[in-house]
Amino acid sequence: SKAKLFDEKTDTRTSFKDVAGLEGAKEEVEEIVDFLRNPDKYTSLGGKIPKGALLVGPPGTGKTLLAKAVAGEAKVPFFSLSGSDFVEMFVGVGASRVRDLFKQAKDKSPAIIFIDEIDAIGRARGKNNFTGSNDERENTLNQLLTEMDGFGTNTNVIVLAATNRADVLDKALMRAGRFDRQIYVDLPDVRERKEIFEVHLRPIKTAETLDMEFLARQTPGFSGADIANVCNEAALIAARKERKAVTKQDFLDAVDRIVGGLEKKNKIIT
Ligand code: ATP
Repeated sequence: SKAKLFDEKTDTRTSFKDVAGLEGAKEEVEEIVDFLRNPDKYTSLGGKIPKGALLVGPPGTGKTLLAKAVAGEAKVPFFSLSGSDFVEMFVGVGASRVRDLFKQAKDKSPAIIFIDEIDAIGRARGKNNFTGSNDERENTLNQLLTEMDGFGTNTNVIVLAATNRADVLDKALMRAGRFDRQIYVDLPDVRERKEIFEVHLRPIKTAETLDMEFLARQTPGFSGADIANVCNEAALIAARKERKAVTKQDFLDAVDRIVGGLEKKNKIIT
């Protein structure tokens, strides 16, 4: 079986409209969209376009979604890979994979490179030697640093990386000219959860006008991914009951189910 290294697509389907809440983060990445759309506007004044930004926040809060939306809004290709792929699939070829990825993105620039779970390759060097694959990981990390340093001022490739463990990252990654911007993507508050429900209820056939404020209040601690899950689960519950449309009770049952799942997950962790 062939492992897929990265998806390159001009993702014009994902836009900021798909990303609910996250006002601060969206404002920060809007600047990146403008760099990608009009690089000359910035470089003609002698400015340097940033090379990378780190999206930091808990799982399921929309980091990947936001990165895709940046590419979609700027109408540039989106190259993505996940740090865990290097650990699981690309053993022995990590550095050359990084080189290939950057070459492809540069050829298609302006472009976005997205590295999910960057902590899997970007953990501080010289630690966790017991894993055995440390040299390999360090080579991959060093190649990433080399590639980012090697960008010319007019390469117009911006690297976005996501992590929920910024604290374990090698400080070298955060140096000027690398991931020198950090953008926080937090769990949604009640108002943001309402907005996320609004996005994910769009394609769903509901039997009554749903009080999204009420749903938002029923889901404290839920991430955007959890809410997307609730909406999907509610539709499945309604379908199983042969309903023609999804009811409020189906949503409440879905919330209960997701809460059950989250509790189980937490039990395993603690
Ligand atoms: P991970 O750290 O686990 O990779 P992530 O932060 O990258 O998570 P995403 O993969 O972007 O999270 O989110 C998963 C899905 O959850 C999205 O595809 C989307 O359907 C939904 N979602 C998450 N956050 C939001 C949001 N702010 N607005 C709308 N939908 C959201």
